[in-house]
Amino acid sequence: MLESMRWDNLRLDDGPGSASASGDGGHRCRDDQEGRGRDGQGGQVPLFGRGAVMRTFDTPGFAGMTFYEVQAKSIVSRVPDASRMPFRWTINPYRGCQHACAYCFARNSHTYLDLDAGADFNSTVVVKVNAPELLRKKLASANWPGEHIAMGTNVDCYQRAEGRYGLMRGIIAALRDAANPFSILTKGTLVLRDLDLLLEAAQVTEVGLNVSAAFVDKALWRAIEPGAPAPERRIEACAALNDAGLRCGVLMGPNATASAAAPGRSAPPPRAGPVTPARPSPAAPQPPMSS
Ligand code: SF4
Repeated sequence: MLESMRWDNLRLDDGPGSASASGDGGHRCRDDQEGRGRDGQGGQVPLFGRGAVMRTFDTPGFAGMTFYEVQAKSIVSRVPDASRMPFRWTINPYRGCQHACAYCFARNSHTYLDLDAGADFNSTVVVKVNAPELLRKKLASANWPGEHIAMGTNVDCYQRAEGRYGLMRGIIAALRDAANPFSILTKGTLVLRDLDLLLEAAQVTEVGLNVSAAFVDKALWRAIEPGAPAPERRIEACAALNDAGLRCGVLMGPNATASAAAPGRSAPPPRAGPVTPARPSPAAPQPPMSS
């Protein structure tokens, strides 16, 4: 049994901080309750005691979703030394993932928030709304070593929520301005929205991009990656990034699909199987993916 997981730094003592009451930014949304629990009582989930703002959106793409907007205390997390991951620093502006992959092995990190690793992981997403400003402060600090930062290592930074919150634009801009090397692993075609910033960043630092497309079978996609864009769209997004002059690879995981789709399996497997980088991007040290 592993003594240390790379998500250990995501436990609540390194988690969200004080209250946030951000507006809807012009989007059609409604604040159901602020700073109160799912049961409306408050205090039953640690996030609520930290003043998270609970928000739902009246748009079909967010049906059944609940977002908790928080002011994080920190945004750059150090990977535990015991981890074998080929990177030491990560950014995760979200926790929980609407892509809802059955095999996702980041699910357990949701239990650190006293949320469950099943339906809650898919439908209850924590949004660190101050991520860009926190990152700029971190990158400007005298003790920041300027090392590579990996994104998409716990949950997908280009999940659907990013289309509404737009945190990645601020994050990439901060990394570009600091010429700090970084990599992104995603299933989200939304990454193309930030092509302009990625190209600018690649002018001054190493930018590694990889798209996760474990398979192209449509039935499997709907069965075990129900919230993610279709695999062919992900591959097309990767091609578009390459056509634009960036280097993007595709990560595939046929063993993960085989185990997740095994007859009689009713619950997500605890871990994905090995992942084979078909054409890894050279500047992107990437983990066996959760994204
Ligand atoms: S595997 Fe990645 S994209 Fe799928 S649910 Fe997990 S974090 Fe999201």
